[in-house]
Amino acid sequence: MEENTDDSELYESQSDLSPDMDTWIGAFCALSGHEYFAEIAEDFIEDDFNLTGLSAFVPHYKEALEMILDVEPEDGTRTPDVMLIENSAELLYGLIHQRYILSRQGIQQMAEKYDLGHFGHCPRVFCSSTLVLPVGRYDTPGNENVKLFCPSCGDIYTPPNSRFQDIDGAYFGTTFANLFFESFPDLVPKIKQTKLYQPKIYGFKVSERAKTGPRMSWLRMKPDSAEDLSNFQRLSSSPAGSVNME
Ligand SMILES: [Zn+2]
Repeated sequence: MEENTDDSELYESQSDLSPDMDTWIGAFCALSGHEYFAEIAEDFIEDDFNLTGLSAFVPHYKEALEMILDVEPEDGTRTPDVMLIENSAELLYGLIHQRYILSRQGIQQMAEKYDLGHFGHCPRVFCSSTLVLPVGRYDTPGNENVKLFCPSCGDIYTPPNSRFQDIDGAYFGTTFANLFFESFPDLVPKIKQTKLYQPKIYGFKVSERAKTGPRMSWLRMKPDSAEDLSNFQRLSSSPAGSVNME
């Protein structure tokens, strides 16, 4: 297993989240590109209930599970192709990880990583460096790599560094980010009104009707409160029909 050669200051924060390099899990999470992963607690993996159905997805399931838990194979006849088992172990870890970060303990661990900025910031100027969270658009592996969700603009982004391009989005899944901000509503940034980019040419606003203009940019506006949202919904469903934007 290669050593972590990444010297990025962002991921070197010394806290109780520092990986335990004596374990497979610790070493796996310390690899370059694996900074988004939480270290799954061993007792979570040892609970068979949490692994229900995964054996059908992962080749060499038993050996992979033993590798993750640093268990020596009973008869000492581990399949000679360690790389094969290593790949299975990574897949298995990712699939367990998708479930773990939805658990009480896992989501708390991800909240600590979020706080420490382990997942980076939104690249959108008007989001003012809002912290982002890793998400997947699919729950089954092999579809797409991990994306980053911003709670300010509500959009997803490709991670800025290519070392994350091999990380499967399914290892984080479609539920995590939404459950996370439901669980920690205080972490949703309190930006008064989502600011919008206003295109200009020689200081004059570009017309809404221009092909490259800000067409329907009001669609990106966010009501500040649930009350504002209700008012808007009441207006748009009024007998007079839809809201007149002219
Ligand atoms: Zn954003």
